[in-house]
Amino acid sequence: MAPVLIVGGGPVGLCLGIALARAGVAAVLVEEREGPAPHPKATLLGARSMEHFRAWDRLDLKVADAAMQQEEDYFILFCDRLAGHELHRFRSPGLEAVRRRAPAAVARFRELAWSPWGKTQIGQQALEPVLLAEARRQPLLELRHGWRQVDFAQVSGGVIGHIEHVATGRRESIAARWMVACDGGASAVRRRLGIRMGGRGRMRSNVSYLFRAPDFLAAHGKGLANLYFCLAPDAFGVFTAIDGHSTWNYQHYWADPARDAAQDDPAVVLHRAMGKAFAFDLLATTHWHHHQSVAHRWRDGRVFLAGDAAHLFVPTGGVGMNTGIGDAVDLAWKLAAVEQGWGGDGLLDSYEAERKPVAWRNSVISANNSDRIDMVMGEVAPDIATSEPARDALRQRILWMAKQFNSAGTHLGYRYADSPIVVPDGTPEPPDDPGQVVPSTWPGSRFPHGWLADGSSTLDLVDRGGFTLLAASGASAPGLAAALRAQGVKLAERAVADPVAVDLMQRPLVLLRPDGHVAWRGAADPAEAEAIARRIRGGEAA
Ligand SMILES: Cc1cc2nc3c(=O)[nH]c(=O)nc-3n(C[C@H](O)[C@H](O)[C@H](O)COP(=O)(O)OP(=O)(O)OC[C@H]3O[C@@H](n4cnc5c(N)ncnc54)[C@H](O)[C@@H]3O)c2cc1C
Repeated sequence: MAPVLIVGGGPVGLCLGIALARAGVAAVLVEEREGPAPHPKATLLGARSMEHFRAWDRLDLKVADAAMQQEEDYFILFCDRLAGHELHRFRSPGLEAVRRRAPAAVARFRELAWSPWGKTQIGQQALEPVLLAEARRQPLLELRHGWRQVDFAQVSGGVIGHIEHVATGRRESIAARWMVACDGGASAVRRRLGIRMGGRGRMRSNVSYLFRAPDFLAAHGKGLANLYFCLAPDAFGVFTAIDGHSTWNYQHYWADPARDAAQDDPAVVLHRAMGKAFAFDLLATTHWHHHQSVAHRWRDGRVFLAGDAAHLFVPTGGVGMNTGIGDAVDLAWKLAAVEQGWGGDGLLDSYEAERKPVAWRNSVISANNSDRIDMVMGEVAPDIATSEPARDALRQRILWMAKQFNSAGTHLGYRYADSPIVVPDGTPEPPDDPGQVVPSTWPGSRFPHGWLADGSSTLDLVDRGGFTLLAASGASAPGLAAALRAQGVKLAERAVADPVAVDLMQRPLVLLRPDGHVAWRGAADPAEAEAIARRIRGGEAA
């Protein structure tokens, strides 16, 4: 019997498989596709996902090499039509600025202080092969591409997945102790379990055109940007750079529900958004919807939901896949703890308790972002191309709306407030601001990043294979360490002298979980060490 069966090998399933294998847990991953997704959906990889990849033998460096290379800043352009008037240019640090960290860039972009990474532009068509190569390096992970799960049954002590070879129709069964559905937004597993989704549900419909156009940059003359919003009333949408030179995507915001998709000629749509004709080869067309949906339940017995199977967002803000990667990281260490005998069953229940509120938070932030864009689109004057006052009015609105692209707080600032496996210390929760990061060790927070004198990050202090007890000079917690070890928790103890790290710790003692979140903090060895140890490992062993 395999410990874990993963259904779906998109970015979330692959990350879960890698994280489990790295934690020493074998898994079988079943994916019906043979190759990467044909039409890249996600293009923004957030800083938190890159921080997780950093902890996986510096996978972040391979991902950055596969990403769109960018000497210039990360730009989001707002125009009426792309070859027409530029209305505003939002900037954040581009990939090279993030890599080099020149003092001028550090002074200019405060997000460079919050994480080793910023916004990384990489389409799923480029990210998935890097993740797949990493997955293939894991001896404990068995990959079954070209196989579709057609049914499953929960049995005593496990799950039986029934799978079918897509090419031949041959059938097999896989027995596992746990199953994780990473099978995307239409999740058959979620439906089969009768799990409903809450939220606003299906919202606006859109159509995306993926195309090759080597002359695209020359056609508009505005240089390389990551996103180009077009706000002319008959051409609402956004161009996205896929490789930065010849492949592009256009998301056409299809605001009128009465329109018929078949009537939309890609050439008409693309040329209208550009404001003139340009040569392109259409590679793919995808119809999709904005959603704000979060599953009511994330666990049913031995089955868990993760990624889009558990939550669907509006892509504005680039949070959907990144939230799913966070799900995978959270669930992996908990499954590993239970498989290795030291995690209590409460640890597995804490997956939903921790991740569902994060998904709600992120889905609401994303929907609010999209609503602001909708509001601006609704105010665009019909004479925008010819009237300077109309463009000025729109520019003011864009300035107000574009602040949402300062999204470091969205990606880095979520915390596991009220988690059953985090020990609160009675201090007030720091502000949760999507636009900025408030570095904190408030219990449940991500342990903050800072550069240490030896060139490493405070994030590198975290032992991803177990818990880490950080102790500033003069502090120690032998009682807590002994209680954790007595309950089977793998614990690394680190004495911290670097003033940057000591400052970020905010307390002399900080206990970190394998995912880098704060489980407990204090000034001295706690008297109730045994109870703390029991709480953070999820109660009694399962
Ligand atoms: C236009 C658009 C832009 C987006 N931009 C961003 C962005 O910039 N940043 C971001 O973070 N997110 C973004 N997202 C969201 C992101 O694409 C998804 O959140 C992400 O793909 C979810 O990954 P997943 O692995 O959960 O699901 P999926 O990527 O959907 O993968 C599910 C996998 O399961 C497989 N599968 C399904 N059923 C079975 C079965 N029965 N048996 C075997 N295999 C099965 C499928 O073949 C698929 O490979 C965007 C989404 C859209 C639509």
